[in-house]
Amino acid sequence: MMKTWREQAACRDLDPELFFPASDEDTPKGRGDRDAAKAVCAGCPVRAQCLAFGLDEPVGVWGGLSESERRAVRRGVTVDAPPEPLAPAA
Ligand code: SF4
Repeated sequence: MMKTWREQAACRDLDPELFFPASDEDTPKGRGDRDAAKAVCAGCPVRAQCLAFGLDEPVGVWGGLSESERRAVRRGVTVDAPPEPLAPAA
C-alpha cells in the first residue's frame, strides 16, 4: 500500500513542538527554533504536499515556511524556500 505524505515526512518521528515554537518569530529564540525546523524541512521529500496542506495554517512551520512566509505566499509574494531535497537513492 502506498504511504501517505505524512508517513513519508522527514519530521514524522520528531517532537512536533520543534515545528510549533512557542516563542515569537521576531525573537532570537523564535528565529533559532524556526531555523531548526526549516533545516529538517530542507531534506523532506514531501515538502510540496506539506506546504499545500498547511498554507492557510495560522501557526507553525509547514513546507519549510514560517507563518509570515506563508502569509506572503498567499499574497502572491515569492519567498525563498529551503533547497529541493536530494532525489532518493535508486
Ligand atoms: S516539510 Fe517540514 S513540516 Fe512538512 S512534513 Fe516535511 S519536515 Fe514536516
